[in-house]
Amino acid sequence: MSETMKAAVLHAVGDMRIEDVPKPEVTSPDDVLIRITSVGICGSDIHFLKHGRIGNIILDKPTIMGHESAGEVVGIGSAVTRVEPGDLVAIEPGKTCRRCEFCKSGHYNLCREVVFLAAPPADGAFCEYLVWPEDFVFKMPEGMTADEGAMMEPLSVGLHAVRSAGVRGGDSVAVLGAGPIGLTTLMSAKAHGATTIIVTDVFDTRLANAKRMGATHVINVRETDPVAAIKDLTGSRGVDASFDCVGSELTLQQALQVARNQGAMQCVGNPQELLPRLPIFEIINRELTVRGTFRYVNCYPPAITLTAAGAVDVRSMVTHHFPLAETVKAMEWVDQNKDKVIKAVIHP
Ligand SMILES: [Zn+2]
Ligand SMILES: [Zn+2]
Repeated sequence: MSETMKAAVLHAVGDMRIEDVPKPEVTSPDDVLIRITSVGICGSDIHFLKHGRIGNIILDKPTIMGHESAGEVVGIGSAVTRVEPGDLVAIEPGKTCRRCEFCKSGHYNLCREVVFLAAPPADGAFCEYLVWPEDFVFKMPEGMTADEGAMMEPLSVGLHAVRSAGVRGGDSVAVLGAGPIGLTTLMSAKAHGATTIIVTDVFDTRLANAKRMGATHVINVRETDPVAAIKDLTGSRGVDASFDCVGSELTLQQALQVARNQGAMQCVGNPQELLPRLPIFEIINRELTVRGTFRYVNCYPPAITLTAAGAVDVRSMVTHHFPLAETVKAMEWVDQNKDKVIKAVIHP
């Protein structure tokens, strides 16, 4: 029998088990075998545990969850040149075909043949070992930790959103929602030179995190109307770019309303409703650019560089730690304590 490893396998809604599964092996010349040491728990993992699907990605076979991972290289294929055993690496969770029009034109996040960790039927990284192609494995410089490596995934989401909004030095931005993606968006905006960074949320604890990570203004939407407050803070002009990191009908409407004329409105959060009502006249009469941002493209290298340079602080995003054996408990705990946790990390 081949070697086995421990993994957190989701069998069905509410049914995740720690099991022995086959340990993967290097089979292709560009394979990298990684011993996983740090994996962030993402809202999407919890969504699969509770609902068994996200949009049209459906859990139809037992699947290992987890996609925000980092670890140590322990084996390489014959053609691998950029990493070697002993290197600490961050793992970009989508491996793409590298042949389609989207891959070839630099928009590989839209590749239809992508295999994405923990998007069923593809297994994820809540396990001890992973084999992944060298193209999507990134060596981290001396001084960076595996926990920071795991955070390169949510940081890349924020970075991609900020880059596609075209944020420039001196810009004003509004980030709606101060969960992990709201925080990486705000840090990315700051790193790109935004000087007015307004963040909204319903929890004061989350707003305090936002403040600590560089927000210039925070608004608790339970007490204050964010649209009026953001207009106030920008001399009724609105912000250069707004980011909806919640996905509710209300925040989508707010994000449209607070963008300046010809400003950018980025849809980052997964929508909570299939057909949210949006004031299209705002888009037309004020020539707004509304953009969806899906995952990320070529963001791991700059995410690592920004982290190593101290331009973003992902280290303080990791607030809780659990062993692999407690993955289910950890996910339930995170789900019930959204105001207390930024990121919980599993250590296989
Ligand atoms: Zn994630
Ligand atoms: Zn492709």
